[in-house]
Amino acid sequence: MAPYQNLEEYNLNITNEVKERYSKILDEIGEDVNREGLEKTPERAAKAMLFLTQGYQQDAVQILKSAMFAEAYDEMVIIKDIEVYSLCEHHMLPFYGKAHIAYIPNGHIVGLSKIPRVVDVFARRLQVQERLTHDILECINDTLQPKGVAVVIEASHMCMMMRGVQKQNSVTTTSGFRGQFEKIETRNEFLKLISSKLS
Ligand SMILES: [Zn+2]
Repeated sequence: MAPYQNLEEYNLNITNEVKERYSKILDEIGEDVNREGLEKTPERAAKAMLFLTQGYQQDAVQILKSAMFAEAYDEMVIIKDIEVYSLCEHHMLPFYGKAHIAYIPNGHIVGLSKIPRVVDVFARRLQVQERLTHDILECINDTLQPKGVAVVIEASHMCMMMRGVQKQNSVTTTSGFRGQFEKIETRNEFLKLISSKLS
């Protein structure tokens, strides 16, 4: 399995299967699947869905392992404002927002770009925000084995905003902490740092 391939080449069989089903759905909701504007829609929708769920084909552990370096640095490393785009598993509608992640190295650091990639691997699946938070946390904790790791995700859920209760401005926050972040002082320092602006 490639650790991180951008899924621009699509499996033809799967794409065709999904495309057929989207075509059926368009028909079922009362659309004319033969009108010009929808001609390529089932195929585009199929490719979009496969792109948004490509995380099933990717291995977050390998992504981290591909860029781990021995390093004595043992202060908190924080990556703030990582964009998150995922699909809720209940409605297959988007939820999106930001992730803030910190770890305290324990002999190894990881290339900074790998942390957002780990977020993408787990976000590009059908998810609930709680499990997404937990998946990222456990992956970093198990692979990097840091002195501590913290994950906070703030997200808006289209299934709440567009349908159901129609709470347009609500943001859901989830968090997880391991190791030194289970201590209140360390956790507070992290929370202060992610909520402050530089300058
Ligand atoms: Zn939902």
